[in-house]
Amino acid sequence: MKCGVPRTILSPASPSENFIAMFRRDTPAEAQFRMDVRTWLEANLPAALRGRTTRPPPAELMPWYRTLSRKGWIAPHWPKQYGGMGATLNEQLIMTEEMARIGAPHLPVQGLNHIGPILMEFGTAAQKAKHLPSIIAGTVIWAQGYSEPGAGSDLASLSTRATLEGDHFVVRGHKIWTTWAHHSDWMFALVRTDPQAQPRHAGISFLLIDLHSPNIRIRPIKTIVGDEEFSEVFLDDVVVPAENLVGKLHDGWRIANALLGHERLATSNPQFSLMALERVKTMARASGIIADPAFQDRVAAASINVMALSALFSHAVELTNHEKSPGPESSVIKIVACELLQTLTDLLIEAAGGHAPADEPIASNFGEVDVAAAFLQSRRATIYGGSSEIQRNVLARRVLNLPS
Ligand SMILES: Cc1cc2nc3c(=O)[nH]c(=O)nc-3n(C[C@H](O)[C@H](O)[C@H](O)COP(=O)(O)OP(=O)(O)OC[C@H]3O[C@@H](n4cnc5c(N)ncnc54)[C@H](O)[C@@H]3O)c2cc1C
Repeated sequence: MKCGVPRTILSPASPSENFIAMFRRDTPAEAQFRMDVRTWLEANLPAALRGRTTRPPPAELMPWYRTLSRKGWIAPHWPKQYGGMGATLNEQLIMTEEMARIGAPHLPVQGLNHIGPILMEFGTAAQKAKHLPSIIAGTVIWAQGYSEPGAGSDLASLSTRATLEGDHFVVRGHKIWTTWAHHSDWMFALVRTDPQAQPRHAGISFLLIDLHSPNIRIRPIKTIVGDEEFSEVFLDDVVVPAENLVGKLHDGWRIANALLGHERLATSNPQFSLMALERVKTMARASGIIADPAFQDRVAAASINVMALSALFSHAVELTNHEKSPGPESSVIKIVACELLQTLTDLLIEAAGGHAPADEPIASNFGEVDVAAAFLQSRRATIYGGSSEIQRNVLARRVLNLPS
């Protein structure tokens, strides 16, 4: 977007204390932990990575990932036996809040939040030993191969075929919207192993595919924001060792759904809404609209919703800690988090007024805010991990038992 819109706003108003949506009080030990996290982040997170609206490319992001890993903080939610932090629920929330406070960048989550927990629950000892340490160390990046050109919301209609031939599968098909596939080393994928099975999802298996194998072609796709966040993956008779099957043959649907539960929870992390709320406030102070009582009302309502999301998230994480994979209830938090993020970026546009279409971050005496990119970026949230319409269908059928 090149709109020639002014990119600097100077306002005489004074900055106020940043607000973090806390709904509980830290114990003295937790308050100390919070200060340790805050101090360490201030000292170690490079300034260039703070407040970024889009995910930085691997050359910039992965050194930060590995810094967190060396500190032992890359996986607060993983048990210590797998190299995680084994953090308590409150410690996990404190880390989320402190990451939001400093504007930490989005990490690649397919390994940490998706396949990692799935391998802990469903993987063989060999699969865990091979893959979990490299996720923690940040030496291997993972992609998720679920969607296909003809199978998105109706995922069970996927047609990528894997034929078992002795000790290996031969995989042929086409995946799309695969986040970071062009930067990734491995992809966990849903493949059809029994084309005759009825219902259709009974013929699907869950495979781990080395993206450096021969006969794989990956083509990046540019998003509306202008970043190359996802790709198409073409698999043309790719040989995959049979030991890369997770769970039993034709039992991939159960694992796929367990993983979607983790995905919906992870994408609902309040860190993103907390950061979006701070952007709204910064922009509103800069433009002066913060003085408008009607606007204040809307910011107050959004703040309450961010706090409600934090509470919902903490409840969901607690359930997950006890029950392993989150169930269909994770659709509730996915809807709340993603629709709230869009409401916040709508408010951001309002706060920026005529400056909103600027093609670069808007500078003010309260800091820089990337308005247009944040707005466009948030549109995808109600699509990935299953669209809001599909989440509502899941809730109607699997939680409320309404007829199809
Ligand atoms: C930024 C981003 C990253 C992504 N990353 C990945 C990834 O890493 N790996 C991966 O596998 N996929 C990924 N996806 C794909 C995502 O999961 C799909 O886009 C999503 O599931 C929707 O599928 P679709 O695009 O085929 O749309 P469609 O299924 O064609 O849906 C089109 C529209 O119709 C609506 N619709 C469809 N069926 C119904 C129904 N039964 N009832 C009511 N409404 C319906 C949908 O809600 C949507 O609004 C990503 C998508 C985005 C936007």
